[in-house]
Amino acid sequence: MAKGKIGVTTDNIFPVIKKFLYSDHEIFLRELVSNAVDATQKLRTLASHGDFSGEVNDLTVKISIDKDNKTLTVSDSGIGMTEEDVDKYINQIAFSGAEEFLAKYKEGNNAIIGHFGLGFYSAFMVADKVEIRTLSYKEGAKGVCWTCDGSPEFEMTETDKAERGTDIVLHISDDAKEFLEEDKISALLKKYCRFLPVKVIFGKKKEWKDGKQVDTDADNIINDNDPAWMKSPSSLKDEDYLKFYHELYPAQDDPLFWIHLNVDYPFNLTGILYFPKIKNNLEITKNRIQLYCNQVFVTDSVEGVVPDFMMLLQGVIDSPDIPLNVSRSYLQSDASVKKISGYITKKVASRLEEIFKNSREDYESKWDDIKIFIVYGMLTDEKFCDSALKFALFTDTEKKHFTFEDYRKLIESSQTDKDGNVVYLYAQDVINQYSYIKAANDKGYSVLLMDGQLDSHFVGLLEQKIEKSRFLRVDSDTIDNLIRKEDKAAVDLSAEKREAYTTLFSSSLPKIDKTEFYAQLEALSESEPPVVITQNEFMRRMKEMSALQPGMNFYGDMPDSYNLVVNVNNPIIKRVFEACDKTIGQKVAEFDKTISNNDAAIKKLRGDKKDDDLDQSVKDEIKTLEDAMRQARTDKEAALAEYAKTEPLIGQVIDLALLSNGLLKGESLTAFIDRSISLL
Ligand code: ADP
Repeated sequence: MAKGKIGVTTDNIFPVIKKFLYSDHEIFLRELVSNAVDATQKLRTLASHGDFSGEVNDLTVKISIDKDNKTLTVSDSGIGMTEEDVDKYINQIAFSGAEEFLAKYKEGNNAIIGHFGLGFYSAFMVADKVEIRTLSYKEGAKGVCWTCDGSPEFEMTETDKAERGTDIVLHISDDAKEFLEEDKISALLKKYCRFLPVKVIFGKKKEWKDGKQVDTDADNIINDNDPAWMKSPSSLKDEDYLKFYHELYPAQDDPLFWIHLNVDYPFNLTGILYFPKIKNNLEITKNRIQLYCNQVFVTDSVEGVVPDFMMLLQGVIDSPDIPLNVSRSYLQSDASVKKISGYITKKVASRLEEIFKNSREDYESKWDDIKIFIVYGMLTDEKFCDSALKFALFTDTEKKHFTFEDYRKLIESSQTDKDGNVVYLYAQDVINQYSYIKAANDKGYSVLLMDGQLDSHFVGLLEQKIEKSRFLRVDSDTIDNLIRKEDKAAVDLSAEKREAYTTLFSSSLPKIDKTEFYAQLEALSESEPPVVITQNEFMRRMKEMSALQPGMNFYGDMPDSYNLVVNVNNPIIKRVFEACDKTIGQKVAEFDKTISNNDAAIKKLRGDKKDDDLDQSVKDEIKTLEDAMRQARTDKEAALAEYAKTEPLIGQVIDLALLSNGLLKGESLTAFIDRSISLL
C-alpha cells in the first residue's frame, strides 16, 4: 500500500471547494459522468487506430446508488488508469488545476470547475470519502484502488479488479443525502447528461404493476447519444427538427423557423437555434438556449455568448471553444467569443433572408411573431440591422406586408414633400387614430402600423437607415402639413384679429390632468374639420422612448402636449368669427385702438433715444401709457373669454376634435352630450 500527500499548497482544499461551490454541488455528477464518457471515447479512438486490440465489448456508462452503504458509483469500461496514471492525473495535475480554480473563484468569477482539470475533485462536494477502482486497458496492467477522505492524504493499493475501466465510488456525506435519491439523480442526469455521446444507464426501466412502479429487465438509458444538432443538416427532415425541439421544450408550440449551426473553422460550433412562437414572457425566461460543451450541458444562461437579441431564441449551442473558466464580463470581451457571436448573428441573418426569399408567403404569415426579434436585433446590432434591411417588413394598417424597398416605391410619388423627403406615415392604434388614418387614406396616402413595443425606437433608427425619410404618426400634424407639398398657406387675417380669434379658443381649452393644449390658427382647406388636434412627433416620440429607458425621466415626466389647430377656412369657424365680430367686434376694436394709439404715443415719446437718455417726466409718461396698454390687453382677453363662454359652437368643435382623439371622457363627455342635445 502506498500512502502519500497530494501535491498542493492549500492546506485542506476540500472545505474550500465545498464552500465556494455550495450552490453548484450538483455538478459533481456531470463532471464524473463526463470523465467516464471521455475515458470510453478514448478507448474507442485507440481501438479505431489499432492501438487497442482487445475486446471493446459493452461501452455503456452506468450510474448506481446503494442506499444501504450510502454510495453512489459511476462506472465505465473506458481506458482505465495505471498506478502511474492515477499519480499523474489525480494526485498531481488535478491539484495544480485546483489551485488555479480557487484563485479564480475567490475573485468571484462564475467559473466552471471542469475546465480547470478539477472535475474529479468536485466529488468531495458531496462525499466524505472517494474511491477510485480502476484497471487500465494496457496489457498486463494491475488494478488500482485509490482512496481519499478529503484530507490532502490518499492511499493507493493494488486490487484484483478484473474488468477494464473505472468505478468512482462516492461515500455520500450526511449533508448531501439527497444524492442517494433516485429521483434526484434522475433529474440531474436529465439536466446534464441527456445528450452525452455514449450510452448512459441508470438502473432499470420501470413499469406500473399492482399500483406500484417496479423495475423491468430493460436498462434505463437516460440519454439520446446522437442528438439532432450533431447530425448533418442534409440528413434531417422538418419532422426531425420539430421532434428535437419538443424533446428540449415539451410543452411548447411548434417553433416558427430553425437554423442549424455547423462550423469547424476557425472555431468549433454546432447547434440548432429555433425561433419560438412566443406567447408570454414566462416562456422566454424558462425555455432558454442551452449551452453544451461536447454534448455535456453547461448552462442555460448564454448572456455574452450570443448577442442580446438572440436571447429570445431557443435551442442548443455546442462549442468546446467557448472559454468557460472566465467571468461573464471577460467572456464578452473575449476575441473568440466575439467571433462566435458574430458568426451566429451572420448565420441567423442569412437564414432569415433565405426563408424570406424561398418561402415568402410562409415568412409573411409568421412576420408578426418574429417582428419583435428582428426589430430588437436591428436596434441593438448594427451588422444584423444592415442585413435585416433586406428582409424586414412593413405592415400597413390593412395588415398588408411590404419589403422596405417595395414600400418606398409605392409611396415615393405621392408621399414626397417639397424638400424631397419621403414621408412614412404610421399609426400606433388603428381604432383610436381612425379619423387620421382615414384622412390620410382619402388623400391617397398609405399608413403603416407601428404598434410594437419597440416601434418608437425603431422609427428613429429607420430615419437614419433609410435615406431621405421622415416618419410621422398620422396625428402629428394636420393632413396638409404632414406631407407639405408647397409652402404653408398663410392665414389671411390682421395681427389683431388673429390674436383675438386665437384667444377665443385658447380661453376654452380643455383641462385634462398632465395634458397641455396650444391653440393655433391655420389656413387648411375648406373641407378639413373646424378643429384638428395634433401631437408633435418629436416630443411624443421622446416621451415614449423614455418610458422604455431608465434615466430619461426628464421627458417621461413632461405633460402630453397637443396642438389644437383651428381651421380658419372651415365654414363653421368662419361663422364663429363672424358672430364674434358682430357681438363684441366693436368692443375689441376699441381695445385694439387703445393699444395701438398708446403704442404709437410711446414710440413718439421715445424717439430714437435710449432709455437712459430720457427725462424722468418722459419716462413716467411712457410708464402710464404702457400700463394702460397692458390693461387694455387684459380686458380684451377677458372680454373674448367671456364671449367664448356664450358661444356653444366653440366648445362643440373643440370637443368633437377631442372625441375623435379619444380624449373626451368623464364629465367633459357628459357636458358635450348635453350641449349637443341643446344645439339640436
Ligand atoms: P479533467 O477531466 O478536466 O482533465 P479531472 O479532475 O476530472 O479533470 O480528471 C483528471 C484526469 O483524470 C483526467 O484528465 C483523466 O486523465 C483522469 N480520469 C478521471 N476520470 C477518469 C476515468 N473515469 N477513467 C480514466 N481516466 C480518468
